Parts: sequence; C-alpha cells; structure tokens
Amino acid sequence: MTDVLSLDPGELGALVAELGAPAFRGRQLFQALWRDRLEDWEALRAWPQALRVEAARRWPLRRLRVVRTQTARDGTAKLLVRLADGEQVETVVLPHPYGWSVCVSTEVGCAMGCRFCASGLRGKVRRLTAGEMLDQVSLADAEARRAGARITRIDLMGVGEPLDNYDATVRFLRLAHDPLGFGIAYRRMTVSTSGLVPRILRLADEGLPVTLAVSLHAPDDALRSRLMPVNRAYPVQAVLDAARTYFARTGRRVTFEYLLIAGVNDGDETARRLAARLRGLAAHVNLIPWNPVPEFPYQPSPPERVRAFRAILEAARIPCTVRKELGQEIAAACGQLRSAAEGQGT
Ligand code: SF4
Repeated sequence: MTDVLSLDPGELGALVAELGAPAFRGRQLFQALWRDRLEDWEALRAWPQALRVEAARRWPLRRLRVVRTQTARDGTAKLLVRLADGEQVETVVLPHPYGWSVCVSTEVGCAMGCRFCASGLRGKVRRLTAGEMLDQVSLADAEARRAGARITRIDLMGVGEPLDNYDATVRFLRLAHDPLGFGIAYRRMTVSTSGLVPRILRLADEGLPVTLAVSLHAPDDALRSRLMPVNRAYPVQAVLDAARTYFARTGRRVTFEYLLIAGVNDGDETARRLAARLRGLAAHVNLIPWNPVPEFPYQPSPPERVRAFRAILEAARIPCTVRKELGQEIAAACGQLRSAAEGQGT
C-alpha cells in the first residue's frame, strides 16, 4: 500500500498524476498533511470532490494516535503513541527557553541491547517508516501549539537506533526540513547513534549538516563492551575515528553522550582516560546521570561524582555539559512508559 506520509512533495505530485491531477496538487497535499495535520481526505477542501474520493479509496491515511500523555511539572510531555498496526512508541516533547524540541523514536524496540536501557529488553520489533517519524513531529507540534509554541528542534534519541533504520531516517530528515512542511533547519536536528561506524561515515556524505550524538559511555573497550555489545563490532577507537571524519566532512562538532552510572563508569581515573582519548577531537561531552530502570542493578551517580567527573574533563579542556534532566519524574529511560502500558494491556 502506498505510504503517502513518507513521500516528499515531488513524489506526491507523481502519485496524484496517476489520477490525472496536476503536480501542484502534490505540494498542496504535503502542506495539508504537515501544516494542517490532514486526518481525513474529506477535509482537503482545496481538491475537487472526485479527486478526494478516489484518493481516499486508494491511499488510506494511517496517522498516529496519542493514547496517553504524561506531563511533568516543567512541561515535558511524554506521549505514548499508537502506530496503525497497533504497535506503540514514545515521543517526548521538551519545552526549552530557546525553542521546543521533540525526541523521536525510530524503531519499535531496539536490537542494540545496551545493558542499561529498557528499550532493548524485548529486542527490535520493527523499523518505523519516515512518515511514522514525521507524524511524531506533527503530534509534538500540536502539543507545542496548545502552549503557543512550535517545534523547532528534532532529536532522534527516542526508542531505536536511528542508523540501524538508515534509509527511513535520512528520508525523515529531508521531509522534516522541507519548507512546505515543518521547515526545520538541519542544524537543529540531532541524530544519535550507539556507534555504527559504517553508517556514521555514510551519513557524513549525505550533505546534511545535522549534529551527530554518539553514545560513548566508556573510554575503553573492556568497559564499553560490557555496557554496549555493539562495541565488539565497532570498538572505541573506530568510533572516535568515525567522529573525526564526520567533523571533517560536515564541519559539525560531534557530541559524545556519557551516562554516569555509580561505581561503574564515573570514577576519577575513568574521567582522566576519557579526557585523554578525546584530546584533539572537535567534540563536546554531554554528561547524563543515568535514570534508574528496575530491570538493571545500577544506581545513578550522585551529584558530587557528576561534579568531580565534569571538573576533570574541563581541566583537560574538553567542552562538557551536564544534561538538565527535564521531566525527571516521568521521563525515566526510554521504553519504560511503553512497557508499563503493555503490562496493563492497553
Ligand atoms: S540506548 Fe539506544 S541503542 Fe542502546 S538499546 Fe537503548 S535505544 Fe537501543
């Protein structure tokens, strides 16, 4: 079945040409889908009725639905979203003073099996389409509009490994950038990865100046392989080399995400080893105190450890921030809201 939500204006023009409609109808349709959140072909009043009826018969609109919203005191909203086939993903809407952002899921479940993440617990179920990713932006934008704001930033940091779903992810980035839709600048998009080296190198050549955020979480192979099985395929040095190439080709400084887990990867010596490995890289480290997940035996690093770790990096002149945990009381690690809902049979 043709997935109209995953098509760009030109492709939609070619599609409607099958019904004898001129190409501008494709641009009209793209605008209606993403600026007006078209849910029902009947509402596309700019089209002749016969065209609407035939389009509805051929191309059902399989839009996502919000089945539950949890909103934190700081305004962070976590949406549990149902896909047309009944699967569910999470989308998080974050109100920042510098513009609202949306954290988009790219897969149902995740195959990477990181040892600290709820999303990997049941493995990967399926990849999302570009349209399913873009529809999460649309739902988040509706949420932002209710507060008089708009979504201006996209983080591909929800459930799933975006570069494992490479083609749909790149298609999504282009669709989200299209000025007939959300028109979001590439510089305001961040693609996270657990470190799939060949895909990082491929992304570097796409001509999309998006920020790359690499989940590092450890400075050496022994510890990183324990936390992230993907490290056995792509060890730390290969990931750092790929980050260096990404910067060289895109001019975009790479962010390294580093979850701090008490007694596991948050010691002074570990911080010094991390600083040594990152020296000379155009990089930025984002320290994130780990959010407890009941299935894992870890604890988050206490605030004084976070401060000490950061101080060591800064003394070594590694640019570094501590992520402010928006919506801490609801936004536990990705995957938890969906797991809870499934437990209740919703
Ligand atoms: S941290 Fe990211 S890559 Fe790792 S299992 Fe979770 S969703 Fe997948």
